[in-house]
Amino acid sequence: MPVWKCNNCGNTIDVASPPETCPSCKERCEFVDVSCYIPDCGGPEGGTINTQVYQESYKADKK
Ligand SMILES: [Zn+2]
Repeated sequence: MPVWKCNNCGNTIDVASPPETCPSCKERCEFVDVSCYIPDCGGPEGGTINTQVYQESYKADKK
């Protein structure tokens, strides 16, 4: 199951495809696929999140 991160509030959800509206902040926001597809990324959610992509998406927020 892919993990998606809301670029508005940072909430992560694991669903097949991201919803139009974030269940956390109730905004229509961009979801970033932060799933771990390689064996050696250990994320906070049991290794399902690619922490590098996750953190890079935060950097992108600040631009
Ligand atoms: Zn959100």
